Amino acid sequence: MTGSLSRLRGRVREGESCNLAEVGTSKLRNLPDSPSLTLPRKREGEPVNSTLILPMNTQTAVRLHGPSDLRVETVPFSPQLAPNEALIRICATGVCGSDLHPYETGSIGSTVLNQPLVLGHEFSGIVVEMGSDVENLEVGARVAVDPAWTCGQCRECRSGHQNLCRQQRFCGLAPNDGSLRGRIVAPARFCHPVSDAMSDAAAALLEPLGIALHATDLARIRVGSSVAILGAGPIGLCLAQTVRLAGASPVWIYDPLEYRQYFAERFGALPLPQNVEADVVIEAAWARESVQRAMEIARPGGTVVLVGIPFEDSVTFSHSVARRKGLTIMMSRRMNHTYPRAIRLVESGQVDLESLITHRFPLQETPQAFEMNAKYQDDVVKIIIENSP
Ligand SMILES: [Zn+2]
Ligand SMILES: [Zn+2]
Repeated sequence: MTGSLSRLRGRVREGESCNLAEVGTSKLRNLPDSPSLTLPRKREGEPVNSTLILPMNTQTAVRLHGPSDLRVETVPFSPQLAPNEALIRICATGVCGSDLHPYETGSIGSTVLNQPLVLGHEFSGIVVEMGSDVENLEVGARVAVDPAWTCGQCRECRSGHQNLCRQQRFCGLAPNDGSLRGRIVAPARFCHPVSDAMSDAAAALLEPLGIALHATDLARIRVGSSVAILGAGPIGLCLAQTVRLAGASPVWIYDPLEYRQYFAERFGALPLPQNVEADVVIEAAWARESVQRAMEIARPGGTVVLVGIPFEDSVTFSHSVARRKGLTIMMSRRMNHTYPRAIRLVESGQVDLESLITHRFPLQETPQAFEMNAKYQDDVVKIIIENSP
């Protein structure tokens, strides 16, 4: 059901900018051990360079045409909002490991790219227009958008497993365009308002935090459980924080990239010792040999949670190792109702998302950002794309 724009409640004035309080020069390093680094600030209400605003019927989008073929393009965009939808001007997008799969191979899991696709599923923005039935938002509200648009009607949705909904549309996964563009139309119920205590970038990173929260839920961590995390990428670093909040101690982390191992210690994770056994092992890497490693590290009766997505759409591990230990193996898919919790954890300062960010690029330089991330150059951990000028 669609309605005309004239039925909509209102729109943000042309030129109203995203909250870019934390946004500075592109590619500026923002490591936590550089406290003297102050980023140039854009004040609230400061006008956006009007030459960068496109006509309403087009927008800039970064589309993947094939392996390693990202193009910055001007594409048609004439949104017709349904009564329950909102038009969002996107402020920030996080580049995710799962974006690198289709970038490098043209596919992810069993989903193959067969037409140009806008990637991007970790994002935040500002509500620009709303459909007539939208109750939970206001024009001008800053929102984080849950990219998994579930049907809300099916058996899985109604039984509390929205992440398993088979009708869900996921932003940035073919055939659904994602957030590496100027604006997006989203169902309002997936738009979560955030306070000004949270930056646009942190609001975008609520998505990987939600992945970590869901995996932490599945792990059923008890106070004092030892937890080993394999992979110190953004998900692993979020996990280091969420499992500690869940009571895990000690929390070990392993990453073959030395700089990431070092980086992880800032989040309270200890280097994984040799020949140690953990009550819970969470695989948050590329699901290759790390899956076998997870089975070896788990103690008898322990739990292994698999979060990483393999390139090859299959994993192998020694059956006898897992069987003899009687391991509980949990497959983690996306997240389940985690945005409200994630927002509270960040706004209260219990989880630090800002410190994950090592690089920022403007939307026009997204191809360079992906190239850097795919090659793990310049000690990259998390890249934020600044969608709005
Ligand atoms: Zn992601
Ligand atoms: Zn459903």
